[in-house]
Amino acid sequence: MTDTKKTLPRVALPADARLDTLAVREGLPPSPWGENSEALFLTSCFVHPDAATAARRFANEEEAFVYSRFSNPNVTIMERRLAALEGTEACIGTSSGMGAILLLMMALLKSGDHVVCSRSVFGATIKLLQAEFGKFGVESTFVAQTDVAQWKAAMRPNTRLLFAETPTNPMTEVCDIQALADIAHEGGALLVVDNCLCSPALQQPVKFGADIVMHSGTKFLDGQGRVNAGALCASEALVAGKFVPLMRSAGMNLSPFNAWIVAKGMETLSVRVREQSARALQLAQWLESHPAVERVLHPGLASHPQHALAMRQQNGQGGAVVTFIVKGGREEAFSVIDATRLCSIAANFGDVRSIITHPATTTHGRLTEEQRLAAGIGQGMIRLGVGLEDVEDLKADLARGLDRLAA
Ligand SMILES: *Cc1c(COP(=O)(O)O)cnc(C)c1O
Repeated sequence: MTDTKKTLPRVALPADARLDTLAVREGLPPSPWGENSEALFLTSCFVHPDAATAARRFANEEEAFVYSRFSNPNVTIMERRLAALEGTEACIGTSSGMGAILLLMMALLKSGDHVVCSRSVFGATIKLLQAEFGKFGVESTFVAQTDVAQWKAAMRPNTRLLFAETPTNPMTEVCDIQALADIAHEGGALLVVDNCLCSPALQQPVKFGADIVMHSGTKFLDGQGRVNAGALCASEALVAGKFVPLMRSAGMNLSPFNAWIVAKGMETLSVRVREQSARALQLAQWLESHPAVERVLHPGLASHPQHALAMRQQNGQGGAVVTFIVKGGREEAFSVIDATRLCSIAANFGDVRSIITHPATTTHGRLTEEQRLAAGIGQGMIRLGVGLEDVEDLKADLARGLDRLAA
């Protein structure tokens, strides 16, 4: 742990400022020029008044900007804003969501340690943990997202981390964060929650006992599909004591430009996410009544297996990702995707542009068919990251292919 005195200035904000205010106002005070919108600090290093000051700053005895691999004003603005929204003491920005998970695991795990992870998490998370960290002697057990007993049974004396993502992508399975936090803490481990699908506008995992919140800024935080970014939100002890020192050595840092984009994106986060979530629910309800659709997965639907838990945990909202399964298989799913003219055929969500994805051949294409089926991802599945287009236009876009299948 470092004991750097916190000397960087703070924005003057009411002590009880609420989430929407923090999203717009938290960051750093303006420069002497008094800009209203944050300036861009594209500089790799910072100048010190004298050699002794430089030495103190490099030794972490005085808080200041030093070198953009580990400190930059744009990155600090993004980190302070996200920490405020997640309700954590601190945050560290990273180059991407996967960069955040790499930083997390490198900082907290060593050979012989054990991780319990939901088997329905993001495909690259499974690959990183199993293939890459497995190579260095980290053991992992993958369990069913919603089965608390399986998480408990998987605990070992050497378990250091529990890793969950809720809701999951693309299945939208919701796990009970508080129950997993209790299991983690009983076993002397930490609970990490990947909060990409909700964002803090809907869900703040630390309120339910999570120790670390992981983000891909690429999704809702940016919100307009421009950059890759990531972050870990946690206590000051973890961020300053574990993550920052590793960042200095490993360099999966967030670029100042991308930090600026994400910090700007967060200013509109809650209005975007609430609105996208409401439109997603309307689409989900409409899809549920379509004869070519076998099943619709959205936590806002009364038919969702964890609907009540999701409403409690996610501020009464289901989120902006809707997954549906068409009757048939890959051919039928492809025909619906290819009939769209408005939706972007891509592999992302959290964008104001609606994005349509075939998970089995894209985001989850690197998993074996066995792993995919265990995660419930079949060939007839389509994921829709709902944006801000008019809902009626989105319905018409999907109906073009679906009506043909139903005919
Ligand atoms: C996109 C995503 C990630 C990875 O984030 P990148 O910024 O693409 O590296 C991790 N978890 C979830 C749930 C995601 O959707």
